[in-house]
Amino acid sequence: MNPIPNALCFGDGLPAAGAPCIVALSADGLRVSPAGDAPLLEQVVLFADMTVEAGGLDHDQLVVTWGTGSSARTLYVKDPALIVAFRRAAPSELTAHLERAAQQVRRARHSHRLLWGSTVGIVVGLGLLLWFGTDLMVEWAVARIPIEWEQKLGETVYQDFLAKETVLKDGPAVGAVQEMTHRLTEKIPNNPYKFQVSVVQSPVVNAFALPGGYVVVFTGLMKKAESGEEVAGVLSHELNHVLQRHGLERIVKMLGLAAVVGIVLGDQQGLTGMAKQLGMELATLKFGRAQETEADVTGIRLLSDARIAPDGMIRFFERLSEKDKERVELFSTHPMSAGRAERLKAELAALPKRDPEPFTFEWKTVQDSLGAPEAKK
Ligand SMILES: [Zn+2]
Repeated sequence: MNPIPNALCFGDGLPAAGAPCIVALSADGLRVSPAGDAPLLEQVVLFADMTVEAGGLDHDQLVVTWGTGSSARTLYVKDPALIVAFRRAAPSELTAHLERAAQQVRRARHSHRLLWGSTVGIVVGLGLLLWFGTDLMVEWAVARIPIEWEQKLGETVYQDFLAKETVLKDGPAVGAVQEMTHRLTEKIPNNPYKFQVSVVQSPVVNAFALPGGYVVVFTGLMKKAESGEEVAGVLSHELNHVLQRHGLERIVKMLGLAAVVGIVLGDQQGLTGMAKQLGMELATLKFGRAQETEADVTGIRLLSDARIAPDGMIRFFERLSEKDKERVELFSTHPMSAGRAERLKAELAALPKRDPEPFTFEWKTVQDSLGAPEAKK
């Protein structure tokens, strides 16, 4: 029987959502082996070559990093038995700050319990507990999160993410994405967000939007697209996830009751802190079926208002789905079901016919500026 993966590995060339792997303690470090067909080399990481910190929502995960540049790797270990064994085996200078962090968490939990008992009360608590889990409750909580909190939360994760990536500063690809963003955002009525869009050099075929309006488009996606309209289709869909606060709804769902109580008590620090723990997971959030359809419908309406041919995204998905389903991250974060595709086409057919206005850039020039197509992995 194959061992069950007990960790997720992140890094260049690995899936954006992490590669499942099997981690075991060895005499002087950790042995990391791929699970299934994850594109990961088996290796032993010496204690001397790694740094560790506590991560995850409750600080209950062990986050191990090693390597530099393109060989930098981050490992999230959740298995409590392995974490205990690691703490025993690792040299104390490596884990001393972990023990301090664990103590802080215990203290924070204790004070949260006191706060909970005295200010909210058990009756309200039980009520929330029963109520929580329904989408209604999530929407109720999200509606109480001020835009400024949302921006702070998104910006923190955005800056952390960009600091580790190669961000294109100028050139045809940046110009093209800026033009698309401008054309789309000026057609959003009463837009409370100041959208920021970055183009990141990476073979990953994806784009994502963080709460608060921080958007990343990977060059891998731009290379696969056959027109600016295809990229604009994906972009419009992402902007609409932000406008409908879908990311925030997912976060509140994931963080659960603690986040809701935090919001009720007006605890911005708590929410931002918890969301920061999510880190990269925020960028690889899977949206729900209803959210996908909502972003599709409002996304193509926005395209139509901006006089951009609105069928770009469906063409992009359909063309890629035949050959690239397994390797295209966009599919895993925005699953394209048959129902979703049909709904999209019906919506397209119902749109008023408008003559599209072409972009000012040549798509071929944009793509040429990104260099040769990625070598097949
Ligand atoms: Zn989506």
